[in-house]
Amino acid sequence: MSSPVETNENIVDEKEVVSRNFIQNIIDKDIEEGKCKKVVTRFPPEPNGYLHIGHAKSIILNSGLAKEYGGVFHLRFDDTNPTKEKVEFVDSILEDVKWICGDIDTDQIYYASGYFDTMYECAVKLIKKGKAFVCDLTPDEIREYRGTLKEPGRPSPYRERTIEENLDLFERMRAGEFEDGSKVLRAKIDMASPNINMRDPILYRVARKEHHNTGNKWCIYPMYDFAHPIEDAIEGISHSICTLEFEDHRPLYDWVVRELEFENPPKQIEFAKLYLTNVVTGKRYIKKLVEDGIVDGWDDPRLVSIAALRRRGFTPESIRNFMELSGVSKSQSSSDYAMLEYCIREDLKLKRPRMMAVLDPIKLVITNYPENEIEYLDVSNNQENEEMGTRKVPFGRELYIDREDFMIEPPRKYFRLFPGNEVRLMNAYFVTCTDYVTDEDGNVTEVHCTYDPETKSGSGFNGRKVKGTIHWVCAETAEKAEVRLYENIVDEEKGVYNEDGTINVNPNSITVLKDCYIEPALAEAESMDSFQFVRHGYFCVDSKDSSKEHMVFNRIVSLKSSYRPK
Ligand code: ATP
Ligand code: MG
Repeated sequence: MSSPVETNENIVDEKEVVSRNFIQNIIDKDIEEGKCKKVVTRFPPEPNGYLHIGHAKSIILNSGLAKEYGGVFHLRFDDTNPTKEKVEFVDSILEDVKWICGDIDTDQIYYASGYFDTMYECAVKLIKKGKAFVCDLTPDEIREYRGTLKEPGRPSPYRERTIEENLDLFERMRAGEFEDGSKVLRAKIDMASPNINMRDPILYRVARKEHHNTGNKWCIYPMYDFAHPIEDAIEGISHSICTLEFEDHRPLYDWVVRELEFENPPKQIEFAKLYLTNVVTGKRYIKKLVEDGIVDGWDDPRLVSIAALRRRGFTPESIRNFMELSGVSKSQSSSDYAMLEYCIREDLKLKRPRMMAVLDPIKLVITNYPENEIEYLDVSNNQENEEMGTRKVPFGRELYIDREDFMIEPPRKYFRLFPGNEVRLMNAYFVTCTDYVTDEDGNVTEVHCTYDPETKSGSGFNGRKVKGTIHWVCAETAEKAEVRLYENIVDEEKGVYNEDGTINVNPNSITVLKDCYIEPALAEAESMDSFQFVRHGYFCVDSKDSSKEHMVFNRIVSLKSSYRPK
């Protein structure tokens, strides 16, 4: 089997010529050869957990192809295994897919469980063709008969049952006459096939489980490898795009649609999963972090589930750009989280206002500024995008500045405040440090300065230059806020897993700052609004814990990074 190894060229800006990925090449050819009249793709999540960034790749790829070729995109819940599926997951998946895609056509939402009748008929059809049989071997015996990669399997002793007997037994399996696990329906293909998936795979099993859609109607459920091609064929999917681990299942997929004689059978194409370097992505691992209580639910902002990325403040645009940069390929690789951070910075840079917030406050008193006076300065909302206009920012005699912007004894090249030094207060005046106050432990509690009224921003500073600019908020009008800073949930230095297989959690993955001060305009922010806090990064109002009385901001990403797109 040939595996073309092709990648999508990076899409850095629209002017560059974008090369086609290998899936687009296949579709182009199918259309050219008249094999495909209409492109229909699907995203088929199993509702057994929340979606993560890897699923976002599949959603964006599939919906993008449908759009590009003027086709249709289906969201299909692959809910054929009631053991782990829940309505909670169906709801969260719907919300996540809508968010990533902007919206979705509700007419194009499907449930595999809606096809249980058809799947049953398909199984009957295979039995009638002599292509399926009811087998009484135990699960252990089936495994043993299956053989290994080196040795062929042996036929089940039940393989030669007559069609009539098989029809009768299968009907009685459905009617609930047999214990769970006591009988299965198997395809009759080839016990000597080098591909183990073709050695009379199981099509149906008995399982008395209540299903979230069909209740107790069924006590037999189809296996994934049988159900999936039927689902695709029923919906008229033209290209069934899945990840590489299904490559070995493709011959079975093709066998099912061929034996069932579907017209225009779908074509399965595999691509490499998205992995993020040193970031926990798999549903199983995220579930473990949630169930072990290490994180605060599936939308904990430290996770890369879609719900978490949304709560953290990532945008669908940034995720789509990230997927374009990471490309579509047949070869397994891993993308850098820094690339995702780059994408969100790029997305927010010109769209979101730049505001002032002080995360670790100390007071700054301007001793020569009039008492009880507040003036309102005109401040540009985004210096790189004048269209965003200006706002009024209050300024007064007492301000808060960040603790790291003052030092009693500065090292070389420290250009911020220290006794005797002059700096610019961003958007305001030049101030010179004249004094400071400390508590009993020597911690600085107040910094005293004088200001030069001639140096108001925008009205010229009589030629004088200063090297440092620091941000501030006016103490009298500031609002308090809680700010949460995040690091990777796993410790990058020490690796993702401990020796015993548990996840190596970074103890600094969250830092909660409770006494931050924000300029008053920020207190008007609504849930999910995002901003640049100058010099600190991009922040988003937390959708769960923030309220007008107690604002909570999540840091989406800091401002600086060493990452540059290739
Ligand atoms: P996980 O690997 O996290 O357990 P899954 O594959 O079991 O996820 P499904 O609900 O079966 O989850 O996946 C739905 C679709 O998303 C499938 O088509 C699957 O191939 C695709 N998908 C899952 N993970 C990734 C990934 N990391 N990159 C790209 N596509 C993915
Ligand atoms: Mg799966």
